[in-house]
Amino acid sequence: MKLESAVKYFNPKSPCVDAAVPTTGDSLSGTDLMAAIGFCQSKSRFGLAAFLAKAGISDDDRKRAIGYLLSYAHRTAPKLVVKAAGGKLHKCLAVLSTLAFEEYSRSAATVSECQHCYGVGFVSVWRDVVKYPGYINKQTGEMVIEPRTEHRCVREKCAHCGGKGQIVARCRCNGTGRVRDVEKSALQGVPVDRECERCNGRGFRRMPGTKAYRAIHTLLPELQERTWNNNWRPFFDRLVEKCRDEETRADIAFRKASGG
Ligand SMILES: [Zn+2]
Ligand SMILES: [Zn+2]
Repeated sequence: MKLESAVKYFNPKSPCVDAAVPTTGDSLSGTDLMAAIGFCQSKSRFGLAAFLAKAGISDDDRKRAIGYLLSYAHRTAPKLVVKAAGGKLHKCLAVLSTLAFEEYSRSAATVSECQHCYGVGFVSVWRDVVKYPGYINKQTGEMVIEPRTEHRCVREKCAHCGGKGQIVARCRCNGTGRVRDVEKSALQGVPVDRECERCNGRGFRRMPGTKAYRAIHTLLPELQERTWNNNWRPFFDRLVEKCRDEETRADIAFRKASGG
């Protein structure tokens, strides 16, 4: 059984499986399931916690998973990052771990603050505003009073989020990660799909890279974006990857213990 299929058996109120889960057809008994979870946990505590947190089962698991990620970050932080962070290393790594975990748990349903208007839904822009349209003598066609415009800062609806202040991570492929290949479909006479190139098949957009940079920049104001991209960003990506690896490890263990 895939870890994903076991989600429905988890009791959201306790970190453990409800021992009294109904046993139906091919599914496991409550005891077998608990044994499988136990095995899975012994193979990757981190992976199981990360998975349960991502599935929205428990908030405690979220904290636990971020804790595991943070100690991993401490063990593997590149020298240049350690040096640049100085006395603020722990704080920086805590921020990175939280954001990396957020990135890992992102799904097509994730809603995040619009980066263009900072969640306000409006942006301030400079526009030429017509204060007086002018007056033309209709008989002679002569301009009697000149029109008057003023260069002013006005509030406009944010075009990026349509004034909602929020962006849904779902990609334009509707979260499926697949799009119709029009050319190939026409050639072969049957509908052909291909991986969506906007999201690389993930079905949702990644968190903008600037978010983590801005968070670290608040702690280390002298950190240049170039330095971030060279030294910090690859490290951040590795933290996200670590969550995925651990989930895979937990999943493999669970499948093995639950008989496939
Ligand atoms: Zn916006
Ligand atoms: Zn897509």
